[in-house]
Amino acid sequence: MKIVHAASEVFPYMKTGGLADAVGALTGTFADLGHEVSVFLPGYRAALAHPSAAGAERRFRLKIEMGDQYLSGDVLAFSPRKNLTVFLVCRDEFYDRANPYGNGERDYEDNADRFIFFCKAVAETMRLADLGADIVHTHDWQAALLPLLLREAERRFGVTLAMKTVFTIHNIAFQGLFSAGCFARTNLPDELFSMDGLEFYGQVNFLKAGILFADRVTTVSPRYAKEIQTPEFGCGLEGVVQTRIDDLSGLINGVDTTVWNPATDALLPAHYSAADLAGKKVCRSSLLKTCGLDPSFTGPVFGMICRLTEQKGVDLVLANAEFFASWDCKFVVLGAGDKRMETALHKLAADVPSKVFMCAKLDEAMSHLIEAGIDFFLMPSLFEPCGLNQMYSQVYGAVPIVSRVGGLVDTVRDADEDRANGTGIMCAPNVASLRDALLRAHRLYWDNPRYAAVQQRGMARDFSWGTAAAAYEALYRDAL
Ligand code: ADP
Repeated sequence: MKIVHAASEVFPYMKTGGLADAVGALTGTFADLGHEVSVFLPGYRAALAHPSAAGAERRFRLKIEMGDQYLSGDVLAFSPRKNLTVFLVCRDEFYDRANPYGNGERDYEDNADRFIFFCKAVAETMRLADLGADIVHTHDWQAALLPLLLREAERRFGVTLAMKTVFTIHNIAFQGLFSAGCFARTNLPDELFSMDGLEFYGQVNFLKAGILFADRVTTVSPRYAKEIQTPEFGCGLEGVVQTRIDDLSGLINGVDTTVWNPATDALLPAHYSAADLAGKKVCRSSLLKTCGLDPSFTGPVFGMICRLTEQKGVDLVLANAEFFASWDCKFVVLGAGDKRMETALHKLAADVPSKVFMCAKLDEAMSHLIEAGIDFFLMPSLFEPCGLNQMYSQVYGAVPIVSRVGGLVDTVRDADEDRANGTGIMCAPNVASLRDALLRAHRLYWDNPRYAAVQQRGMARDFSWGTAAAAYEALYRDAL
């Protein structure tokens, strides 16, 4: 099949979260399966600086209609592996910035224009390059206008650009909501600014366009596919999702084992596997040393890696500060984002510097060392479309402590409830239930044979992209 992806993040060129990992792995896996894959992302400063982009060639110079004016852009392309072409949509005014969506304090004011331009540029490049896609697969609000804009371009130019379109919701909480004024820059017919179109309580909602106008809609776990049909998790779009119930499916993400495998991980000081965990001990002391904690500590080490947002249950962890202060354990946090949470976590670390370490940055290498060096991974999310770190944790022999929401339910089994198959500890997303889970973790750790059994079962699970890719392939074929 000829498959075109469009997303605002693709690992390793730009990553702020799981979207990048998922699109990076999905495109690579399909290329390796022999499909002809193209992937579009904005030509962010970091993406252009990536070593693989060094040999990128300018393929097209675009003139993109944005309301009543035309904006120019360049499309660069390179091929990092067989069957895969990466297209970077460049326009310095929009993408030559340190961060993809905002300056840390707030979102960029021109985000609507940046991603209208991106989607239009993808459609235009597909036309100019005559890509003739079987499937166009777009991801999240930043690329959500593409299915609709493609059909518009086909109508306008009398061509076929894509047989079928698939839209994946990686997180329904991010919708790309903008003031009505930006609608003119889509150059879509006025009647589409209505309840049955992009309008959402007087604003323009990009995500809604993806849900309504793609041929198929997917999200990243079966449980989340159900949850987003309810007011509790649908973030106001539950009614819109319900209209697509016949075309909606939940496909769990996989783990890219070329990146996340403790037996080969180039970012670790030592390698290990389920059969020989000696290397994990080396990683553990290396982690503790890196964090200024006692490397000879023998009790449980907890870890957490996430964007600092309410979603990730950071406040539930902070409300359990007393656990980390009073119980014999260590706790390492890697997370950037919300400044209040960052400050509170720094304070926790300052209060008990011999036990808690806080690292407030984006650090890929550190994230691997944490997964390898810890005994328990904390992920008490309030909602979680799929979640990757609970899978990485199992693969790396760290027992995940997760709340019973979304993809966490589909990928973790509670070790107390299911003694024969459990791979983690599950709780409700509230302070008391998390405290109970932390105490259960502590007990499990000191029950060595039981901890080892839970750890081994986690490491034996197959989260590789093979299964996930097969599900997407079946979906594509079914759509066609
Ligand atoms: P989300 O997409 O909601 O952020 P996921 O669990 O799906 O959550 O994916 C998060 C990804 O981002 C993981 O690969 C995780 O390791 C990574 N990550 C999150 N925060 C950081 C950080 N501060 N440094 C490095 N990697 C991070």
